Amino acid sequence: MSTETASAPNFIRNQIRDEIEAGKADRIVTRFPPEPNGFLHVGHAKSICLNFGLAEQFGGDCHLRFDDTNPAKEEQAYIDAIKEDVAWLGFQWAGEVRFASDYFDQLYAWAQHLIREGKAYVDDLSPEEIREYRGSLTEPGRPSPYSTRSAEENLDLLERMRIGEFAEGEKVLRARIDMAAPNINLRDPILYRIRHAHHHQTGDKWKIYPSYDFTHGQSDALEGVTHSICTLEFEDHRPLYEWFLENLPVPAKPRQIEFARLNLNYTLTSKRKLKLLVDEGIVDGWDDPRMPTISGMRRRGYTPGSIRKFCDMIGVTRADGGLVDIAMLYHAIRSDLEDNAPRAMCVLKPLKVVLTNVADDHEEVFDVPGHPAREDMPLRRVPFTRELYIDQDDFLEEPPKKFFRLAPGQEVRLRNAYVIRCDEVVKDSTGEIAELRCSVDFDTLGKNPEGRKVKGVIHWVSAAHAVPMEVRLYDNLFLVEQPDKDKDADFLEHLNPESLQVCQAMGEPSLADAAPESRFQFERVGYFCADRHACRDGKRVFNRTVGLKDSWAKIQNKDAQKKG
Ligand code: ATP
Ligand code: MG
Repeated sequence: MSTETASAPNFIRNQIRDEIEAGKADRIVTRFPPEPNGFLHVGHAKSICLNFGLAEQFGGDCHLRFDDTNPAKEEQAYIDAIKEDVAWLGFQWAGEVRFASDYFDQLYAWAQHLIREGKAYVDDLSPEEIREYRGSLTEPGRPSPYSTRSAEENLDLLERMRIGEFAEGEKVLRARIDMAAPNINLRDPILYRIRHAHHHQTGDKWKIYPSYDFTHGQSDALEGVTHSICTLEFEDHRPLYEWFLENLPVPAKPRQIEFARLNLNYTLTSKRKLKLLVDEGIVDGWDDPRMPTISGMRRRGYTPGSIRKFCDMIGVTRADGGLVDIAMLYHAIRSDLEDNAPRAMCVLKPLKVVLTNVADDHEEVFDVPGHPAREDMPLRRVPFTRELYIDQDDFLEEPPKKFFRLAPGQEVRLRNAYVIRCDEVVKDSTGEIAELRCSVDFDTLGKNPEGRKVKGVIHWVSAAHAVPMEVRLYDNLFLVEQPDKDKDADFLEHLNPESLQVCQAMGEPSLADAAPESRFQFERVGYFCADRHACRDGKRVFNRTVGLKDSWAKIQNKDAQKKG
């Protein structure tokens, strides 16, 4: 039974709806502008769902534009991965993929335009001096001694910067706005830096690269973006974003709207920190199933629908600083898989059971539903034989009260089959339990034994038919809710040493040919997904997506009861 969760408020959606109803907006155009310097993470998923979702909802367009102004940190591999992730989430960008670097010629011409208007100059101050001249929150800045150069000189210097006559850091181009502005972003911001770097799109054409601020709004304007949606840290940049649009002959006037970024507990949402985990070999690449990257979530078994649902559940506000409970994300995938994943039995830690009153050559096949509520799913054929495996955790030699599983002299039902009783525990020379000898009550198929109540049901597989497989149990990568809360401490100290546990498991025959990325509920255990890389050449590897217990639904039910 899945819990339906309502969408949370989305102030940007409401705002655009109002604009459309009031006739103030016609066709909307949004964009998702990743920098190709790492893989996308769950925070980006929020931005993707928002930007593409609005275009979908209001019949507009959403562009995918790479914000590629820093070639030193960017790579083609990241571009490819980002495109794959957006498409996998189920979104289609309008037209071709775009690059901010497509506009480098136009941006350069606009820089020259600002110079001619007396609104930009080449500065020779060093980066440290620029910082010092800029002042602080309490002190106004001072003009650079180079800010009075003539337009001719500035144009000449900029051109020579472009063709590589100067070393990195020797000069920059700055806008001339106001060195005393209360908003530090307006104190003559940098438009161009010298970088003698090869660029993945433009090759060696440029020796100067535009700053984010000088690139973003103008790219939006060139593409006819109407709503330029970004996270709150850009709020203080908005006056600058607007200054460029006012002072350049741009073809359109996009508007910047800020929203609060997603912060998720037990999770890092910073590409830089995630890259460190990859570079240090702490995880198995960007798509390790413990990574909060979109490709990691995919490999873990998340569906695109569950990630979209999660983004819908968290809503869009301007309230910063909140921490979303990862239980919500687990809830979103669990309710999807609850409804859509076929069931199977899989024993994670096999313990052999010999059924002493079953013949050696006995073979009986039970046809059981693929899903309790889905008649469209095929039946599974579950063979039953003399030797079985059950899970080690389902047997205790000295059980506490209310242990409704198997114990010496105690009865339990094998799921979809008979009730058995444990008659004998066989140990090996080291005292470890080697096998259990049990007997079957053949009178108990689909009904309770005469006069006895058997409370427990356990899962099992026929030893002769079991398919060996590796099962990887994942847990949070970090032990604390905000691993990077303390900026001066090393977030790696909070790594969870038990974030990955590997089991050599035994699954029922229906799992034998599971296709990569197929998803199952292993009954009584959790939801699992066939690993998209490792399930090859007859090898079976399953990743645990999420357990069965839904702590988020519990919290919600409690809240509902309180309110009710
Ligand atoms: P990171 O800090 O992880 O490098 P970023 O903001 O630098 O993230 P970009 O590639 O510039 O990464 O991000 C592309 C878009 O995704 C931007 O519009 C950005 O605002 C948005 N975004 C990034 N992180 C989040 C987040 N945690 N929640 C919501 N949106 C985000
Ligand atoms: Mg960024």
